[in-house]
Amino acid sequence: MHSNTQQYAAIRCEAYGRTEIRGKSPPTAPSTHTRPGNCHTATSGPTLSRLAPTVSGMTRHGVGPETASGEQASFRGMPTPLYLASPSRLLGWLDCPRRYRMQYLDRPRPEARAQRAHTSVGIATHNALRDFWDLPVAGRTPAGVAELVRTSWIDAGFRDPEQSSAWRIRVRGAVTDYLRGIDRERQPIGIERSVSFRTDEMVVTGRIDRLDDRDGHLVVVDYKTGRSVPTAEDARTSLPLALYAIGAARTFRRDCTRVELHHVPTGTVVAHQHTDASLSRKVAEAQSIVSDLRTADAEFARLGAASSRFEPAPSPFCTWCDFRAHCPEGAAMGPEKSDWAGLEPVRETRDSS
Ligand code: SF4
Repeated sequence: MHSNTQQYAAIRCEAYGRTEIRGKSPPTAPSTHTRPGNCHTATSGPTLSRLAPTVSGMTRHGVGPETASGEQASFRGMPTPLYLASPSRLLGWLDCPRRYRMQYLDRPRPEARAQRAHTSVGIATHNALRDFWDLPVAGRTPAGVAELVRTSWIDAGFRDPEQSSAWRIRVRGAVTDYLRGIDRERQPIGIERSVSFRTDEMVVTGRIDRLDDRDGHLVVVDYKTGRSVPTAEDARTSLPLALYAIGAARTFRRDCTRVELHHVPTGTVVAHQHTDASLSRKVAEAQSIVSDLRTADAEFARLGAASSRFEPAPSPFCTWCDFRAHCPEGAAMGPEKSDWAGLEPVRETRDSS
């Protein structure tokens, strides 16, 4: 079952500070993989053939329920439990440990700011593209798309009703144009499909926007709706895309090495063809982050907010952060962006040097 709440949660936690986003982020967000002190780029890793079989229902496979920390519950004398990881959780840690703590560990969870307009646009776009495939083939028309956008629309975060209405028309046009370039009779093998895989250290779960079967080859498609047009480098370096590909391969027991970013507003498609070696490096990268998370989560369990592992990572993107009201260091980075700032055109910045 799909719900706006599910989609919203998935998007909000990917809302800024990196390139692996669902298009709802400020467009100039830097890649977190370049942030000092957060380098988890792995040069080698476990070969994919050594990955454990797919796990789609963890508790049925004899591993315990997830705890708030991401580790499964364990009992004395038992092996170290698997860490339940998602791409959002891994990247959330890299983006800002303080925000990670507020988002995943603090209880009660600090209240996040209200939804921004670009998030509303992203959710509506994703939902329309999801529901499109539920239409009968004969109904996959511009009129059908217009109705999907109308019913998917979320009127939150806009400056005023006029701005919301203008953007609804704009999204309707973008989605219609994007779908013109799609074979509307070739039903994807998965829509918002949950996939997972495990290693000896972790269980990774994720949800793929669209999984295509193209002439027998599985292709991971991730929609982008933000202002920034993704590049081939984004597709190549994306940790989530690589983990989705591995999860799809494990879930469907078929090879899956091609990943694509589809920028809906422009129809731009960028792709990367992974190899076993490049996917193995991404697994190693994820495991490196999980190793840090285990330590941090465990310390939080002992010390709570007194732990020093959750320092804020102030950056210009604090002006977009959903939790900045609880973070003096981030609030000091500048005035908060308006609810609709993510809809405005990207301003070119000149290097003054
Ligand atoms: S405001 Fe900045 S430093 Fe503070 S939690 Fe958010 S991203 Fe981290």
